[in-house]
Amino acid sequence: TYSLGPKIANWDKERKAWLQSNPEFPSLVNGKPRVLLVTGSPPKPCDNPIGDHYLLKVIKNKIDYCRLHGIEIVYNLAHLDKELAGYWAKLPLIRRLMLSHPEVEWIWWMDSDALFTDMVFELPLSKYNSHNLVIHGYPDLLFEQKSWIALNTGSFLFRNCQWSLDLLDAWAPMGPKGPIREEAGKILTANLKGRPAFEADDQSALIYLLLSQKDQWMEKVYVENSYYLHGYWAGLVDRYEEMIEKYHPGLGDERWPFVTHFVGCKPCGSYGDYPVERCLSSMERAFNFADNQVLKLYGFRHRGLLSPKIKRIRNETATPLESVDQFDIRRHPVHGD
Ligand code: UDP
Ligand code: MN
Repeated sequence: TYSLGPKIANWDKERKAWLQSNPEFPSLVNGKPRVLLVTGSPPKPCDNPIGDHYLLKVIKNKIDYCRLHGIEIVYNLAHLDKELAGYWAKLPLIRRLMLSHPEVEWIWWMDSDALFTDMVFELPLSKYNSHNLVIHGYPDLLFEQKSWIALNTGSFLFRNCQWSLDLLDAWAPMGPKGPIREEAGKILTANLKGRPAFEADDQSALIYLLLSQKDQWMEKVYVENSYYLHGYWAGLVDRYEEMIEKYHPGLGDERWPFVTHFVGCKPCGSYGDYPVERCLSSMERAFNFADNQVLKLYGFRHRGLLSPKIKRIRNETATPLESVDQFDIRRHPVHGD
């Protein structure tokens, strides 16, 4: 069967030895685990050229979040393994990055169609000390309903360890493009509630794997839903004004969603589940909602959530450091609630 590469069996020991002999690349920086955010998009331009502009906006959004929180970032435009093109491309990429960056403790995959909408919220990483995969979802949807949307693979974290390499190996076999992916899709549709008939996708395959080998994997999987590590856009984007009125960034949950993910929108090409105009205007709102949190330090905000134009919110002063003390969100980290 298909494999991601030569079987690696000793990663924990090898990585530990590497870290010991390379103290200038510590896996903990200032007491915090080193995190690498990974995202990407297809190698070619979007079918719909406006899609490329939105890819630019969403990478700008991720760069901003990562800069503010000391997270490194990789943007991938290549298919490392052409058998795993499309949504499966994240698997060989995550594996490659784990092996090439032993100093990284957590690899955080985020889809191109997901934006940070809470620029203050930070991952509660210490909560995950004894887990290796952190993914948004609902245990009852997973184990009771066997729903194909029980977990979302648009934003999740893997610890850089042997367990994660093993999980990637177990996850990949449904991925190869062509008859394997087609046939596997039938198994997934037959077994997962609500799943339409289509080729195997990475999300369904992960859910199916965790359901069918629960005892082997679940002990190390943290199914997170106390904040929006992934938040479904349709229920969020129309409520931003209400959130601004009632709440403040740093909460990360339905009051101020950490991530807004445009599931079912395909502004770059192919067919989505929603009209592209609705997707684009909603992405524009999410982007500007987040960008206002970034611009605040500089004394600006967007004229409205649909406007690329900005306006001043403070007068220029001769004592600029007062604003730094007041508005630099890096200096007032908020962990969840
Ligand atoms: N992706 C990629 N290269 C590709 C296709 C997809 O890097 O050739 C990434 C991209 O970040 C995308 C994610 O994989 O958001 C999930 O793919 P999917 O087709 O589900 O796209 P989405 O609906 O999330 O835009
Ligand atoms: Mn997505």
